[in-house]
Amino acid sequence: MSAYDSPSTERIRIAIQKSGRLAETSLKLLERSGLSFARSKDKLFWYGRNLPVDLLLVRDDDIPRLLLEGMCDLGIVGQNVAREKILDARRSTADDDLDELATLDFGHCRLMLALPEQQAYQSPQQLSGARIATSYPQLTRHWLQQHDVEAKIVFLNGAVEIAPSLGTADAIVDLVSTGTTLRANHLRAVETVTESQAALYRGRSTLSSDSAALLDKVVQRIQGVQQASETKYVMFHAPRAELAAIAEILPGAESPTVLPLEGQSDRVAVHALCTEQVFWGHLEALKSAGASAILVLPVEKMLV
Ligand code: ATP
Ligand code: ZN
Repeated sequence: MSAYDSPSTERIRIAIQKSGRLAETSLKLLERSGLSFARSKDKLFWYGRNLPVDLLLVRDDDIPRLLLEGMCDLGIVGQNVAREKILDARRSTADDDLDELATLDFGHCRLMLALPEQQAYQSPQQLSGARIATSYPQLTRHWLQQHDVEAKIVFLNGAVEIAPSLGTADAIVDLVSTGTTLRANHLRAVETVTESQAALYRGRSTLSSDSAALLDKVVQRIQGVQQASETKYVMFHAPRAELAAIAEILPGAESPTVLPLEGQSDRVAVHALCTEQVFWGHLEALKSAGASAILVLPVEKMLV
């Protein structure tokens, strides 16, 4: 039986990248969500050990199609890849769409327009009639349309960044995270076409009500792990009189817990769950407001 055939009892399938930039973090996220898999040698299909939830390990480019065709129920893939395939699918079927359930805060990159270094750039309008090489024709076309520019898109499956020096394109639209590849090819990024990070998508499969309930539970756990990794538990001592000012500093905190300190009437202990990133700047601001003994602790799991 191939990994894509329907098994007799209904099981949920999650597709992740087999190897590459997203592979390891995607798997870790699922394992931290309490899923465990029997790793098989062929590395294409891993059977779920503790729940009827199996893993498909595939090329990232195949994930949107597997979701759209209902071959898998959930998938983790870059927004860049998912949005490109969604736009492409929409050209043939009006309602082909994938639900983005959560952004996952890894695999950050930008799809950017880049020009040869020596070329001046003023606005998208100067691209009128230009040849733009890209592996993302739909996202590029969409961006050009938004700016009311007509240009020729040259589709390339890889090595997009060498197209200008080969003379096959005047500009490129490609993924950039550090800009090193662009610099090595004497290109300069001038516009962000779209920002991207890994995200969790729901496919178009239909499930029995039991399986749908299990899928909801898995999604909730993934969201919980995701939220927990951004959330910190912050504890410190503070002057009672400064509590209002201090509450303003805490990023993404709801009403903090305030506890008395033995033998001190003017100072209290404060515990708060911060759902947004806590930076050194926040801690310094707390200290300036009179806080002391400041501790920031990671949160492992969360169910809200
Ligand atoms: P596959 O063999 O699965 O097709 P790939 O070569 O297409 O792999 P990777 O290079 O592993 O893909 O990138 C996967 C995803 O990682 C990208 O689609 C993008 O969402 C994200 N990503 C993050 N940073 C970068 C970057 N600097 N360059 C390319 N992709 C990046
Ligand atoms: Zn790929």
